[in-house]
Amino acid sequence: MISSSRRLFASSILSTARGLLGKGKLAGPDKVTGLFGNDLLKTAEGFAVLTEQVKAKCGPIVERIEKGDENRTRVELVDDLSNELCIAADLAECVRNLHSDPEMAKAAEEAIRELYTLLETLNTYQPLYENLKKSRATEKERLNEVDLRTLDLLVQEFEQSGVHLPDKEREEFVRLSGEIFDAGVRFESGCDRSVEVGKSEKSAFNLDSRLVSPVSHSSSREKRKYVYNHFMGLSDEQEASLRKLITARHSLAKLTGFPSYAHRSQLNSLLGSYEHAHDFLWGLIQRIRPSAEKELAVLSDVLRQCDHEATRVGEWDLFYLTELYKNSAFGSVPSSVLSQFVTLGNVLRGFGRVTQSLYGVTFEQRIPLSGEMWNGAILKLVAVDAEGKELGTVYLDVDHRSGKNLGDCHYTVRCSKQLETGMWQSPVIVLSLNLIPKLSGLSSITSIPITIKAAENIFHELGHAMHTFLGRTTHQHVSGTRCPTDHAEIPSTLMEYFFYDLNVMQRTLCTTEGQSIDIKDAATIIASENALSSLNIVHQASYALFDLELHSPEVAESFMNGKVSSTQILNRILSRALPNLERDESTAYQHRFHHLIPYGSKYYSYLVAKASASLIWRTHFQSDPYNREAGEKWAEAQSHGGGVPSSVILSRMLGSPPTPSLLIDTLASQSQQASNLSAVNV
Ligand SMILES: [Zn+2]
Repeated sequence: MISSSRRLFASSILSTARGLLGKGKLAGPDKVTGLFGNDLLKTAEGFAVLTEQVKAKCGPIVERIEKGDENRTRVELVDDLSNELCIAADLAECVRNLHSDPEMAKAAEEAIRELYTLLETLNTYQPLYENLKKSRATEKERLNEVDLRTLDLLVQEFEQSGVHLPDKEREEFVRLSGEIFDAGVRFESGCDRSVEVGKSEKSAFNLDSRLVSPVSHSSSREKRKYVYNHFMGLSDEQEASLRKLITARHSLAKLTGFPSYAHRSQLNSLLGSYEHAHDFLWGLIQRIRPSAEKELAVLSDVLRQCDHEATRVGEWDLFYLTELYKNSAFGSVPSSVLSQFVTLGNVLRGFGRVTQSLYGVTFEQRIPLSGEMWNGAILKLVAVDAEGKELGTVYLDVDHRSGKNLGDCHYTVRCSKQLETGMWQSPVIVLSLNLIPKLSGLSSITSIPITIKAAENIFHELGHAMHTFLGRTTHQHVSGTRCPTDHAEIPSTLMEYFFYDLNVMQRTLCTTEGQSIDIKDAATIIASENALSSLNIVHQASYALFDLELHSPEVAESFMNGKVSSTQILNRILSRALPNLERDESTAYQHRFHHLIPYGSKYYSYLVAKASASLIWRTHFQSDPYNREAGEKWAEAQSHGGGVPSSVILSRMLGSPPTPSLLIDTLASQSQQASNLSAVNV
């Protein structure tokens, strides 16, 4: 998941916000610098000073935009203005979510609220919009193609903010934005809530007093069913927050001239419209359902071997049966092998080997200065190109602390940009990963064993980071991952294909002494990962369809008016997508669905990106994953960030932009290859 300011001035504020509590104090007076090297941020009070500085810098830039400036075009100046706000707001957003000291987190939150007001004011300040729009003609000779595209994107986003609306409606826009933010924060804070276990179930199933996960590894079907359905139980508070969120989003979309939020969100996406996204998802479900049904039949067989009376596989059985199936079909890799080879250090070195071969980019570990980061297990890596030029910094915050959110998250704290002085602003990224239980000594972090899923995720997240480092654009508004969501997930998803390649895996899961994981064990990991992928895709497509439909004109209105519940909407989709899977229709998976907040109506982007990445993998890297020529072509494609439309970038890589049917074919053929399953004895 990416958390970054996509919108002109304000989106990081509207993106995820979780867990404001934290434990532990940051080191005291001996700090030699402040957060991220900003001396102002040695103390919590620094956030208020930073906010004031931002305000002071913005005024003169706004003036230059209004008057015109012979040294800097208006698109450059609007990008400068956006940059001043984003570098403060994005940093504060990251600190609010991750800082170990509640006082710092709280100060960051206050700064965000203050900046938010300023951001929304600027987003709806007509002279900025009008002068920028006019400059397309008046400054034409001074603008290149990327300037023009950036200008169009900025104008479009101003218009999405309702800048062209009369005063009263603009005020309404600001009010609705605030409601969306508040409802989103409330909804997200409830997504991971634990639930109390009833007294009788506690003793009958030998459970703790609270459930923190829907997954039970128990061989008792009754217990699995209770744990899953009880954890996924309906929450009135979550339903209320969701209804508020959808109501505000729908009203905001209508206010800005769209039939629904689902329509409004598709601007610049690869599929281009709500209707295409809808058809893509239903087409995908219909196409993949036969292989998903085959997989369910295989799991049914496993279930009957465990429980002669069971007839249908239930949602609560999926995890347990999948594990049983994979262990029987492919065997399991001994944990001693995994802990020897799958370590954070090996995975980071393996990733570096890929980037060095493909792009000539290496990662150097640096020790953060005192005060540069919060208390936690944090690794600082600097990406360096073949000429020794530093491309950017990535901090990996890897321990699990109280108050730090459970989901892995990617924060772009600072984007790439050419400043007015001619200097490049180098990007800064923070990856929040929950790899180790508590703070360990720095020296031991890299030798800590991690799971295969965590290793895959590091490849994914560092794929985003590389996109940011390679996307050295003149304007920060289009740098790196600042492109439409579906496109932004392609470079990261492509890195997952690298990770699960036999050759890459053997070279990655390799000790510093040069000993690689055995080829049989690597093959087992890969086969196990690919098995039952059709069921997974149908599930993902169903949740994506839920997200899209919930924001669509008719469903949103019925939901807002209380005519239909979110559970009924999800039931309708899942009963058509997976009719043979048993479910308890009173549960509410969607109340735990974090992605509704940052991705609202674009959760399907993952599937579009997966298919696109698969096409790039097959055509360029599958036969030779370390090929420099293919790597350079892909680096060039990533260097444009959002400065060139994704359809053009994909055309350069694939010959033509992928059509929805090609995307469906790609995912279908991939999952069919993987779904050639046979029955097993467990
Ligand atoms: Zn991602």
